[in-house]
Formats: sequence, structure tokens, C-alpha cells
Amino acid sequence: MELREPPNYRTATKMIHAGTERSPYGEVSEAIYLTQGFVYPTSELAEMRFSGEDPGFIYSRYANPTNNIFTKKMCILEGAEDGRTVASGMAAVASAILCTVKSGDHVIAGRAMFGSCRYILETILPRYGVKISIIDSTCIQNWQKAIQSNTRLLFFETPANPTLEIVDIAAVCRLAHEAGAIVIVDNAFATPLYQKPLTLGADVVVYSTTKHIDGQGRCLGGIILSSCQWITENLHDYLRHTGPAMSPFTAWIMLKGLETMPLRVQHMTRSATKIADLIAQHPSVSKCLYPGRSDHPQADLIARQMRSGSTLIAFEVKGGKAAAFSFCNSLKIPIISNNLGDVRSIITHPATTTHQSVPPEVRSELGISDGLLRLSTGLEDTEDLLEDIKRALDTVKR
Ligand SMILES: *Cc1c(COP(=O)(O)O)cnc(C)c1O
Repeated sequence: MELREPPNYRTATKMIHAGTERSPYGEVSEAIYLTQGFVYPTSELAEMRFSGEDPGFIYSRYANPTNNIFTKKMCILEGAEDGRTVASGMAAVASAILCTVKSGDHVIAGRAMFGSCRYILETILPRYGVKISIIDSTCIQNWQKAIQSNTRLLFFETPANPTLEIVDIAAVCRLAHEAGAIVIVDNAFATPLYQKPLTLGADVVVYSTTKHIDGQGRCLGGIILSSCQWITENLHDYLRHTGPAMSPFTAWIMLKGLETMPLRVQHMTRSATKIADLIAQHPSVSKCLYPGRSDHPQADLIARQMRSGSTLIAFEVKGGKAAAFSFCNSLKIPIISNNLGDVRSIITHPATTTHQSVPPEVRSELGISDGLLRLSTGLEDTEDLLEDIKRALDTVKR
């Protein structure tokens, strides 16, 4: 059931009401169709399902009613025609890339990215004869220079993990399309509330729904959003036959997450803005990068393509690893972990955790120093967070 007119309800209203489909029982909260497959009343109908003449469900590896409701809401939020749910953010990234490229193709990717994305590009793709260029993605000339006649795909995250570097989505999309390539954007950090890559020209958007969409540390999930044509031609059969399906239970958790996501992310962003201001002017800190601050080196670009700075802050404490560890260990509210977008504030030391396997020289190229920390701002009281972070920064020996 679609939302009744007018269609221009605002995001929070849509996230609660749009795309909801109810069973004949009329349940309030969406049903969890925790079933492997579906029954056909007759053999004739089974035949029609398999031929595609009847659009009904066949098997949950292909499609499931609970997952479909989640997909519909995400399409509305993102402005996408169609989408597919998968078991994790990495399943989304891997599937979107692998269903796009073939042997002999060339891929360009931004160098600052989630560690597992780097593994897919640098280790898996070359095994299948795909060539890779990894570039400093903040400079549009680098994208231009890297394009070759066989370039098929441009892939990046923005803001990127963990340095919060920004890529000019519209400019990269123009270059890609002139070269006959497509663009996949990992939009996990900005969230669909603050940045809509499809409207800026991207062909495909991927999310780890594990992050702000679940937002409560419960389930892994991923989603791929694009045009009907791209999904039908590239992704549809790939997912059916390789099977990285999201559990209907997870899809239901994600649906519950979406209902409160606008409220959570807006509150977390308001706190992040205040916390970034505190961190930026603290004497223990040598650098603070927050996309919502006017001193971010790419503030003009951010103003053009993001509606807000979102929930993550990257900063460097003076005194390297020892100072970073002492800061993290003395925090009382943020937990030391590696998720983000959660209701709990989370502090991460990328050099020894998420980016430990990245060689030190590559880490330093990426700006991941031993003093760099990433804070994912949670939903705790802003004043409590400010007091805790200030106290912990005060204790850092500099
Ligand atoms: C977390 C994350 C992923 C991977 O998602 P999982 O759900 O953990 O598999 C990919 N890209 C970015 C930017 C992420 O933050």
C-alpha cells in the first residue's frame, strides 16, 4: 500500500507510512515472513511464477515480502527506482562491483575507503583479470587522468572512512559517463538523509544498513539501490544465483530502525556539531575533521552536496598511539568498538583496528596517523558526552 496523496510528505512521515503492506490480518507493525519459500495453489500457478507471468513469491533467496517493504522504503528515501537487500554492507559492495565488471575491464577507486572494500578491489578483482587504479579521490584531475578506454566502473565512499575526505559526486559522475563507465557510491557515512548520490548522477548507491539504519547494534545488513534497468540487467540474476540474501528477520529489524532513523540521526548530528567544536579547539588535539565545520578543507563542496555534517568526527590527538589509547581508555561513555551510526557513542582507533592490516606507509598516505581517532556520535545526552570527552582530552599528556 502506497501513501495516500499528497505524495510530498516529508522524510519522517514517509519512513513510518510509505511502502507498508499489510497481510489480511491488518497488523500494525509489518509482519516477519520468516519462511524459506512459498506455496503455489496449483501447478499451473507454479509454472507461471517460474516463467515470470505471475509476479508472486517463489523463494526467499529471490525475494521476500518483509524484505520488499524495507526495499520500498529505502527506494522512497533515496529516490531510487528499485533495490535489493543483502546480508551485509560488504555483500552490497561486493555484489554491486562483481555484477558490473568482467575480465579485461578497468576500475578506478578512491584510496580512502573501508578496509574490506580495498580487499575486494586490490585482491579479488585482479584474480579475474580486472585492472585497478586506486587514486587520491579528493582531486577531480586524478579521476580524469586515471580513465582508460576500458574503464567500466568508478567506485568511492564520501565522506570516506576514516578520514572524512569528500569526493565531488557530480563531477566524478560527469567524467564517468563521458567515458561510458558507471559510478557506484558507498553512502554509509552521509546516510540517505544528508546526501543523495543518485540525484547527483550516481548510477548505484550501496549501504551497510548495519550502521545508521539499524542504528542499535543488532543486525548486519546491506542494500543496493539503482534504476530498474540496472538492477534487472546486472544485479537481479547475480543475486538470485549467488545468494547473499538478507534474512527476513533482519529486514524487519531494519524496518523498525528506519521508523526512528530521521529522529536519531538528526539528534546525533546536533551533538556531533557541538562535540566537533569542543574537540577542534582543545589543546590536546592537533587536527579535527568534521564535515559540518567551516574549517573542513572541502567545506565548499560539502555545502554543495551534503545537507549536514552527519554523525562522525575524525581527529588526531597529540602524542600518537599512547595518547590515543589513554584518551580512549579514560572515556566513560563512548565504547571502544568499530561500528558506527549506533545509539551508543563509539570511539575507534583505526591504525590498530579497522586499518591494522593496511601497510604503515599506505596508512600514512591515507592520513591515518597513530594519533587518529574516529568518533561516532551516539544518542546519549549531549552535555554528558561533552563533559566526558572534555575530561578525557584534559587527561591526555601532550
Ligand atoms: C561498515 C561499512 C561497510 C561494510 O558493512 P558491513 O555491514 O559491516 O558488512 C562498507 N562500507 C562502509 C563505508 C562502512 O562503514
